[in-house]
Amino acid sequence: MGRLRYGLEGVDEAAITRAMDALGAPLLNLAAGPRELTFGLAEWQATFRPGDHVEVRGHDAEGVVERLASHLSLGPPLACPPEAPAPEAPAPRRPRLAETVRARAHVIDGEPSVRLRDVRDGREAVIDPAVWDVLRHADGTRDRDALTLAAGRWRSLDGVARWLADGLPAPRSAPPVAPAVAAARPIEALPGYALRCDGSGGCCGAYGAVPFTAEEAARAEGLVPLGLPRPLRFTPYDAGGDRLAPAQVDRSCVFFAPEVGCRIHAAGGARAKPAPCQLYPATLVDDGVAVRLSVAPECACAFESADHDPADGVPLLPPGMAAPPARPLPEPVPLSPDRAAPRAELAAWCDALFAHLEDEPRDLAAFANGLAARIDARGLDPDLSRAPLVEAPLPPELAARLARAGAESDAARAVLAWAATAAAASGWPEPAHPERERFYLRALAWGRRLAPAGRPLSAALRERAARIRLARSMGATPAPALARAPAHPLAALEGALRHASLRLTDPPQGEG
Ligand code: SF4
Repeated sequence: MGRLRYGLEGVDEAAITRAMDALGAPLLNLAAGPRELTFGLAEWQATFRPGDHVEVRGHDAEGVVERLASHLSLGPPLACPPEAPAPEAPAPRRPRLAETVRARAHVIDGEPSVRLRDVRDGREAVIDPAVWDVLRHADGTRDRDALTLAAGRWRSLDGVARWLADGLPAPRSAPPVAPAVAAARPIEALPGYALRCDGSGGCCGAYGAVPFTAEEAARAEGLVPLGLPRPLRFTPYDAGGDRLAPAQVDRSCVFFAPEVGCRIHAAGGARAKPAPCQLYPATLVDDGVAVRLSVAPECACAFESADHDPADGVPLLPPGMAAPPARPLPEPVPLSPDRAAPRAELAAWCDALFAHLEDEPRDLAAFANGLAARIDARGLDPDLSRAPLVEAPLPPELAARLARAGAESDAARAVLAWAATAAAASGWPEPAHPERERFYLRALAWGRRLAPAGRPLSAALRERAARIRLARSMGATPAPALARAPAHPLAALEGALRHASLRLTDPPQGEG
């Protein structure tokens, strides 16, 4: 589970309430004493102490912080204090799946099961599909006896009480409407780039389930008949929500088949797929002048496409697809703990960096650390050739932190275990593929994604340097069998860290 804490100096309760209204998140709890307000939806919660800090937890905590940062001025990242273990809940009288639990159907080597995962602490339970068949009828209105009738036959819920809540859930407010991109704002795509997906399905199992709307699920089932019992084809993506998670077969989306790739795509074309799959791996950021369209450097194809003639690929935004809402760059952009710059200045600096990187001959991990040091000392210096080289070691506790990290997908967990082994290696390894590191930084610079989630730019550059450095060590470390993209450790690492809402350079818990 992701858990992030940021300073909130000078932000009062009224500003917090306005921001939460904009995100469509209702107030869930209000603690007296040092006043704390908790807002949230099924998949995330944000606890504010006005004027002091905000803590966000949930599967995509980083994405939520990024949206928060477009409404509130966030301070520097802070360490999260350790959490007390959650007490075991008493058996509920009218059970329903708790909001923090995700149910995912799996078929591995022909054996079906359902995994329940608590996003608060990453704990998992594997239950028999027959128990799931009862559990899916538990909606908070029926007690055990009524549930027995509804399910058609009694199967025991004993042993899964921890995963249940009691009674009807609190009413949910309407999902937030993402801010629309101004119609006049042009889309500027990563120059000379088109995507060549190899169809191997590397991404279709790397992140766990993709959320489908009910309409997308119905269309997919109409195009691709699934040989699975109905309760296992889709499970709720999150408790209380309307989205659906497709089953995973041998750790890939049920719609993936090795010989044809995505079977929805094969049967109905790209536009028939669920929206996240149509767009992946494109990124859109509104920098106030244009919408920058780039690629998330987290799959092997994203990197390998850069080596091919763009005429062999497809545009990052599929033809006929309306541009989805772009994430806004904050205004101003934090550069370091005590500096900020208008986003127009950051955009100009990113363009200069994009051009400079094409010919920068030096070690790019040390260069990114050097840029961070120069920004801390002088702000945005357009003369990038004057950035020093700084070889910063990986944090000493990183291997243990990566080894403890949880993630929904087995593939992401395997990558984190691979990274944990590699993080123990000392020294400053030579790059085996400097052109990939160059592409990584250029794609992020073009896409205005060097400083995501309102993080200071210098801290974000040190994080990028650490990822490049760790990926080099991973390249010299055997990858576990379940890890995706073993020949592209930087892509694998980037995807697994996003999936697990982790950063390499966050201070250890309990330290500031
Ligand atoms: S719907 Fe298609 S593209 Fe999306 S994860 Fe499933 S197989 Fe992959």
